[in-house]
Amino acid sequence: MLFNELDLFKNIQQAITEEGYTNPTPIQEKSIPIILDGSDLVGCAQTGTGKTAAFAIPILNLLHRIVGSPTKAKRIRTLVVTPTRELAIQVGESFDTYGKYTNVKTLVIFGGVNQVPQVNELKNGVDVLVATPGRLLDLHKQGFIDLDHLHHLVLDEADLMLDMGFINDVRKIIKLTPDNRQTLLFSATMPFAIRELADTFLTKPEYVSV
Ligand code: AMP
Repeated sequence: MLFNELDLFKNIQQAITEEGYTNPTPIQEKSIPIILDGSDLVGCAQTGTGKTAAFAIPILNLLHRIVGSPTKAKRIRTLVVTPTRELAIQVGESFDTYGKYTNVKTLVIFGGVNQVPQVNELKNGVDVLVATPGRLLDLHKQGFIDLDHLHHLVLDEADLMLDMGFINDVRKIIKLTPDNRQTLLFSATMPFAIRELADTFLTKPEYVSV
């Protein structure tokens, strides 16, 4: 199948074309229609399968509808939680790449660095926040992060978050978000604790595996 059969906004299709991608990878082909439909999703996929674009592209397409106007108030509408700063940066770059012809503003935050520039960016307003768990909870506690208007929550590399001891932080983060959100969980493996997380916090998820 071709990307242009997915009925994406031309602003997003253009960015994909410029990346040189004509065909979605299997995880993208399976996940993009489900995410565009608004369903929750559990995606079982390794790094390297194109899983970042599998959620970034449809989320940008959904956000483009909402934040199409440059005057529309910036609020955190998508939160992506990742286990490491490297992955957070990579995910942020994907949103910037595929969203370059949209008004969607993405911010990446992680610990181990001065929080002031991150707080200033948050005050300017963002649509997509990509964050590691510790810094996210820290800045939320300080009142700099409002998750009340969230539409999409992505838990990326959930099994790695489990391995790194972030599972309780992840549970806390999920509980800070509205119940009517769309939740996407990606994991390379599906240990019991991740299946349990999905059973607890996702609503009738579709399962995709590659
Ligand atoms: P990921 O699994 O998200 O880490 O992506 C792995 C690599 O595949 C990244 O370098 C992407 O730029 C690339 N990629 C993502 N989607 C496609 C696609 N549809 N066709 C070719 N390469 C892609």
